[in-house]
Amino acid sequence: MKAYVESYGCAHNESDARIIKGTLLQEGCELVTTPEGADIIFLNSCGVKHATERKILDRIKALLAMNKRVIVCGCLPKINMEQLLVAGAKEFLDTDSLSKIPSVLRGERVPFAQSREDKHSLPCEYGPIAPIQISEGCLGNCAFCGTRNARGRLHSYLLEDIVRSCRSAIGLGARELWLTSEDTAIYGLDSGSSLPDLINAVTSLDGGFRVRIGMMNPGAAKAILPQLLDAYASDKVYKFIHIPVQSGSDGVLGAMRRQHSAADFSLVAKAFRGRYPDCVVSTDIIVGFPGESDEDFQETLALLERVRPDVTNTSKFCPRPNTAAALMDKLPSQTTKARSVECSALGRKLSLERNRLFEGREFSTIALKRAKSGGVIGRAPNYKQLIFEGELGKEYSVRVVEALLFCLKSEATKH
Ligand code: SF4
Repeated sequence: MKAYVESYGCAHNESDARIIKGTLLQEGCELVTTPEGADIIFLNSCGVKHATERKILDRIKALLAMNKRVIVCGCLPKINMEQLLVAGAKEFLDTDSLSKIPSVLRGERVPFAQSREDKHSLPCEYGPIAPIQISEGCLGNCAFCGTRNARGRLHSYLLEDIVRSCRSAIGLGARELWLTSEDTAIYGLDSGSSLPDLINAVTSLDGGFRVRIGMMNPGAAKAILPQLLDAYASDKVYKFIHIPVQSGSDGVLGAMRRQHSAADFSLVAKAFRGRYPDCVVSTDIIVGFPGESDEDFQETLALLERVRPDVTNTSKFCPRPNTAAALMDKLPSQTTKARSVECSALGRKLSLERNRLFEGREFSTIALKRAKSGGVIGRAPNYKQLIFEGELGKEYSVRVVEALLFCLKSEATKH
């Protein structure tokens, strides 16, 4: 049978997509690269934002119009089943039922799982960049978030199972591991382990690889900060943190039901920059959350000016189904739009300013991906993108010749 997998969303979802591909290959399927050539299509959906959902619903309609069998996987079935049914989708596989793919291939309908499955016992297509999931779900109850409806409450995978998967991925040629989940900083709170323990165990593995630590909530990161800073000391860990703050106003953070303050975010970011001056700080901001005043928004801009993140992902608030915020009064769309424009512009200014600090610096790196604009992509020790002329899979020393908004244009000095 010829199978096609199309995946959307975050690194966690991409990790599921690798398991879907690994299982299909184990079941004797041929993986094809276009839907036209497929007998069955696995669409690994994301439901984090309304705009993404719209795109996916349109995609499903287009695939169904090809008279293809489409299995909708990922988070959307548990975030907005109603719209999926309207789009004509008929078959679904939730994020805890990947082990049921053989049943799907036999034409059976698979109900939503009632319990967690051990994803580290399932086959996985790792590749040179391997997303490794460390847990499912979170301990939050954020008013705007639909992801929680799909991924549920925290379920940490066993440390030894994760390390085994990392060892397998490295053995199969992975040079970059992404430790991923909804909130990596709460890893192990339900199993007697911790993220620093996990990082230390993974970085003690042999091999020429680096590790990117996925998204952490500021409050949870603050709770493990000293051990986390120490675990990041390994040369194998990218000096990169992704800590969504969402707003600079504690009033808005309270309405969002976030479990941290703006000061917690500053504290974590400054601690990492203090210990690792090159550390990349990436954050997320939601503008236009119900009740956000002009003063609240100014606090968000002021926080960004103080912390000066390398990356600011700005999103306009948009209600997600079955969330508390969906019942709240929305701000006028032109207000939200104007704030999004202003916040995004500040984010870009800060990104370019941070990138300019690296002009003239030299880094050793591995060419891991092709760049859309030509050349290859490697990563600096702080995970900044280095774009240069080179061959995939080769190691290089490069010098940064020009800072661009999203990357550092570089030239290879030797390899
Ligand atoms: S921590 Fe909040 S934003 Fe993150 S997945 Fe959980 S509920 Fe959603």
